[in-house]
Amino acid sequence: MSESVRIALLGSGVVGGAVARRLTEAKDEFAARIGRPLEIVGVAVRDTTKDRSDTGLDASLFTTDAEKLVTEADIVVELMGGIDPAKALLQKAIESGASVVTANKALLGQDGAELYELAEKHGVDLYYEAAVAGAIPLIRPMRVSLAGDSVHRVMGIVNGTTNFILDKMDRTGAQLSDVLAEAQALGYAEADPTADVEGHDAQAKAAILASLAFHTRVRTSDVHVEGIMGVTADDIRAARRIGCVIKLLAIAELVEKDGTQAVNVRVHPTLINRNHPLGSVREAFNAVFVETQLAGELMFYGRGAGGDPTASAVLGDLVQAARHRVTGGRGPGESAYANLPIEPIAASQTAYFIRLDVEDKPGVLGNIAKTIGEHGVSIESMRQGARRSQDGVATLHIITHRANEADLATVVDELKSSDDVREVFSVLRVEGE
Ligand code: NAP
Repeated sequence: MSESVRIALLGSGVVGGAVARRLTEAKDEFAARIGRPLEIVGVAVRDTTKDRSDTGLDASLFTTDAEKLVTEADIVVELMGGIDPAKALLQKAIESGASVVTANKALLGQDGAELYELAEKHGVDLYYEAAVAGAIPLIRPMRVSLAGDSVHRVMGIVNGTTNFILDKMDRTGAQLSDVLAEAQALGYAEADPTADVEGHDAQAKAAILASLAFHTRVRTSDVHVEGIMGVTADDIRAARRIGCVIKLLAIAELVEKDGTQAVNVRVHPTLINRNHPLGSVREAFNAVFVETQLAGELMFYGRGAGGDPTASAVLGDLVQAARHRVTGGRGPGESAYANLPIEPIAASQTAYFIRLDVEDKPGVLGNIAKTIGEHGVSIESMRQGARRSQDGVATLHIITHRANEADLATVVDELKSSDDVREVFSVLRVEGE
């Protein structure tokens, strides 16, 4: 090994640029913390003609030849995103003996196991703190600090864009489309917001968290996902009336039925009590609530995105991998020994909130309660909302006890076809105390 630890950066965009800047600005601190200097041997980009002087790096370091670059470093930091060519480049880097650091949730959610196996085979580190919840130290606590405990449940707000939108709807009463437009104007949402609002970004992060929590391989495609586009201002108002907020939650829990354990993992809009720690997470912040056997309840909170915050997590990984190059040792590899089955969404159990308009006439409430009870679902509360006597309609807000997803779906179908029901507006899951 040369005197310095050689670093190759793949990408110099929002995160890669912030990483490069900090590496040049705090060069001496990194050398002191690691025991040897870090040397950036190259930065792979698509366009070498862009002005990147704000990184403090010499223009000659930027290259389009990422394939060659990954074979010339001790540590490769991948911040280009996407599957192709990031996956092949990381594979090549590992095969060349480099440790790798990545922030790429899409790649890890889809092909993490393959990369883990390759890293294991070649005896190198694979770190990815920035892939879930940006700046928040979460992956290392899950992989290292909680290695002697047992996690039961992880519930997280892991997408800042959707939290910004839902929080703004809650505070202003505005409709989703208006808030989304504002979020785009402010740079909180992409021009194409699909990955955020449809829940796909949170889906990949849920897969990563579930894998770590339950020592089981969970891929993005194993995670049930529902986005926020169906959430209306009326839903938010109704949630507020019962002391709740609506959040897009990534939920991974250990379930046990008939003595057999399984992993239940899903992403969906959820009603949660305002007093729950996740209920008070505002704007574009992220937070992850972890329940374990010994530690009890833990809450991780902070910025889930942005150049500098994300660079903080990437650089923590880089320092750790560099220390291993200097003093020897390796970080933890994949832990998938439990190999639990993934529970199908139809089998999952949660409480539900149903908002519907019914005929405003005697006997209707009894009929509704009977329809719900006939399918093994019990009602925790049923409140009458606004009564519009002019058109003979009353709005009902029903909260069920924990019920089976499939039973609930049957109840909703029956309610929709009932003569007593004018319209079922929304069915939302309820979590937390
Ligand atoms: P970005 O701003 O779009 O930057 C991507 C960089 O990669 C650019 O420098 C681009 O080159 C380069 N690049 C892309 N494709 C390439 C290719 N085929 N060959 C060579 N270079 C290529 O992306 P970002 O926001 O920094 O995100 C990077 C990663 O961090 C992603 O995996 C993302 O999910 C993750 N992440 C981002 C955030 C965040 O707040 N942005 C937070 C957490 C995690 P050019 O500059 O020449 O276009």
